[in-house]
Amino acid sequence: MTVDRSDTHAPCDVAIVGYGPVGQTLAILLGQRGWRVGVFEKQPSAYPLPRAVHFDHEVGRILQAAGVAGDLAGKTEAADVYEWRNAAGETLLRFGSKAASISGWPEANMFAQPELERLLDARARTLPGIDVHRGCEVVGLEADDTHVTLRVAKAGSLRSAVRARFVVGCDGANSFVRSCLGATVTDLGFFYDWLIVDVVPHAPKVWHPLNIQICDPARPTTLVSGGPGRRRWEFMRLPEESIEDLNREATAWRLLAPWGVTAANATLERHAVYRFQARWVDTWRHARLLLAGDAAHQMPPFAGQGMCSGLRDAVNLAWKLDLVLAGTAPDALLDTYATERIPHVGALINFSMELGKVICVPDPTEAAARDAVMVAAAKTVELTAPPPALGIGPGVLLDADPYAGQLFVQGRVECAGATALFDDVVGRGWTLLSPVADPVAQLDAEARAFFATLGGIGAHVGARAPIRDLDGTYAKWFAEAGVAVVLQRPDFYVFGTATTVDGSAALVKQLRRVLGSAPPAGPVQGRP
Ligand SMILES: Cc1cc2nc3c(=O)[nH]c(=O)nc-3n(C[C@H](O)[C@H](O)[C@H](O)COP(=O)(O)OP(=O)(O)OC[C@H]3O[C@@H](n4cnc5c(N)ncnc54)[C@H](O)[C@@H]3O)c2cc1C
Repeated sequence: MTVDRSDTHAPCDVAIVGYGPVGQTLAILLGQRGWRVGVFEKQPSAYPLPRAVHFDHEVGRILQAAGVAGDLAGKTEAADVYEWRNAAGETLLRFGSKAASISGWPEANMFAQPELERLLDARARTLPGIDVHRGCEVVGLEADDTHVTLRVAKAGSLRSAVRARFVVGCDGANSFVRSCLGATVTDLGFFYDWLIVDVVPHAPKVWHPLNIQICDPARPTTLVSGGPGRRRWEFMRLPEESIEDLNREATAWRLLAPWGVTAANATLERHAVYRFQARWVDTWRHARLLLAGDAAHQMPPFAGQGMCSGLRDAVNLAWKLDLVLAGTAPDALLDTYATERIPHVGALINFSMELGKVICVPDPTEAAARDAVMVAAAKTVELTAPPPALGIGPGVLLDADPYAGQLFVQGRVECAGATALFDDVVGRGWTLLSPVADPVAQLDAEARAFFATLGGIGAHVGARAPIRDLDGTYAKWFAEAGVAVVLQRPDFYVFGTATTVDGSAALVKQLRRVLGSAPPAGPVQGRP
């Protein structure tokens, strides 16, 4: 092996290992903030196999922040109902999705992962601070007090050394960075093999409902949208089948035939067998090494939340790395990344596993017992609401605030003649919002100066305010919460609230304390 000591790769602030959707999004969110980001991806070209087809409203807002919302138009379709049926066609569960959610995006969005990755790649390449190195496998990591040195193997076995202030392993389920962290894993011991098949029908067809789970013990099957013009089928491996037999193109066509899908009327775009697992890594940071996405957690896809969780990791980590790199907050801020994210992703892994227990039932007697309970229960419920947006765990949050850690809303607004979603018109980052007055105008000089170092913005939003609340999104939220001001974090979660608008200064002072930038401040005014 030749070791190239000439450092062909420039030193970077953050090195990202892996260029799947999580590495791409994190690179963009850091690159947009002006940091030098080196991305190292072992594959010479994008991963071609079928994976995610669903993202939720919160992730829509994250993709909006990453600058790809416009290009996504026409490449997603909203899903209204997600139906679970037994072999006899009776309903076991029906999740309904509202047309619009609290984030200004449809609750459930169907898409093709390779298309999203193409958009994210194109966006990343517009940002001058991001260098993407494909065909470069990270094979070694050595940390000192100020940097991590990455050993990168390139085609032809040439190795080079790259220095970075932080390294984030976005390197998927078999993460190399995770193995360097030496962390333990919590594994719920739930695993099943499924054949995944993506199909492009030659003629358009309306599917109703758009997304269905067929909980038939003879062949548990998923039929969902794969984005406009595409359909996804997923077939569970039966106990007597081998993975090799299941993972053949001929098997895919045989299993598609009962659905009227043949080579004469459809193109089989890709197929693969995956083992769905339910587990997460217990430690996401060791000094300058961090994990995100599938490197940190994996879950069965029945709730469509694996990639979504990884993008939540990216948006959480991006603003924290930004503050630490800028010297505005100490390195310890990065410890709140895992304390906030693990409870959230753990709840989703449990939820996905519970859904998996409904469908991954190849035993007819067990399936009959399940049906007896669920068919009766489903008759009394018209539509089950999708699970509410989960809160994050303890971290950069105002103590004892009932709204701290909850996802905040995004509505349509009009401001200075422009009409669009709030983030695109007003901006994003640390945001003080109030229906009463401009909360930034309430800050004393010290709080205002600190808020400015964070790039914080203020928004007076209401029916007659400078930022017009076109659909009453903000009026409804503030009325229900009974507060006068909210401090929203850059990842759209609530830091804290105050019941009077002059509580804004205390909110900012508490934020400064929690970020580790200042000694303890007094309580937030107006808080009961
Ligand atoms: C069948 C199926 C359906 C799914 N459906 C959904 C869904 O509907 N919604 C949803 O949200 N999620 C879904 N998921 C999950 C989703 O696809 C994953 O969570 C997501 O792809 C993870 O992204 P990532 O960037 O963390 O990892 P990956 O996409 O796995 O990317 C990791 C990258 O790291 C690279 N890499 C690995 N090691 C190294 C190294 N040493 N050096 C350099 N590069 C390296 C790999 O080549 C790879 O490109 C589904 C998954 C499957 C399998």
